[in-house]
Amino acid sequence: MPTQLDPALRRALTDRVRYYNDLGIYDFYRRAVTTEVSREGGNSAVPASSSPIVEEEDLPKLKTKSTGVDPSSALRRIREDIGDCTRCRLHKQGRKQIVFGVGNPRAELMFIGEAPGADEDEQGEPFVGRAGQLLNNMIKAMGIRREDVYIANIIKCRPPGNRTPERDECETCSPFLMRQVEVIGPKAIVALGAVAAKTLLAINAPMSELRGRWYDFRGTKLAVTYHPAYLLRDPRQKKETWKDLQMVMKELGLQAPAKPPE
Ligand code: URA
Repeated sequence: MPTQLDPALRRALTDRVRYYNDLGIYDFYRRAVTTEVSREGGNSAVPASSSPIVEEEDLPKLKTKSTGVDPSSALRRIREDIGDCTRCRLHKQGRKQIVFGVGNPRAELMFIGEAPGADEDEQGEPFVGRAGQLLNNMIKAMGIRREDVYIANIIKCRPPGNRTPERDECETCSPFLMRQVEVIGPKAIVALGAVAAKTLLAINAPMSELRGRWYDFRGTKLAVTYHPAYLLRDPRQKKETWKDLQMVMKELGLQAPAKPPE
């Protein structure tokens, strides 16, 4: 028999689960052993089986991809939650606007870059500068359109002088990206460059080792490839990038176009 929860405790649990959902966390596990704080304030470790504090049936229903939530309004809600963000130092280091993300809210494929540059900061849209033009060509070469995919970055504000984002900036900002991924529910994600790959996968390795294979990212397939800005500097790596994109196309059942990308 499920234990009847005290209404105040039930409310507190609901609030706590919503808080984790807002951070992009949806999966929860019960520990085999839990620690109960006695009324006198002392701790006593008790097996969950003999003294259940919370039965699964008592937990609020958690959001899953099948809840039928409209992704457009869910994305709007995330944007509202970000607000005129002042959570990290970048808000006072010259950013003009927050660059949220763009594309199909039900996209099967998501590209995740590093951070907005000057053009993106100006226009409020990711990948609209030179690197963006190359990304557009890569997408076209896959036989799809920019509007078919969703494009976002690890961080949403331009770092001064386009420096690499600091770790704490990525940690502060990326929970919003996690929520975007959760809402969109793509079949595959392509991490563009080392910052995206390392932040999403928490792996520290050179790009040459990271690329060319699939990873599991919270239940979604994730591939790593070179950042378009890097390809502008070293076009020899376009061949390897094309191999990565072909791996993604195969997974998504996309038809390889006759002409390879430029
Ligand atoms: N580089 C990125 O990583 N993201 C952009 O939006 C533009 C350039």
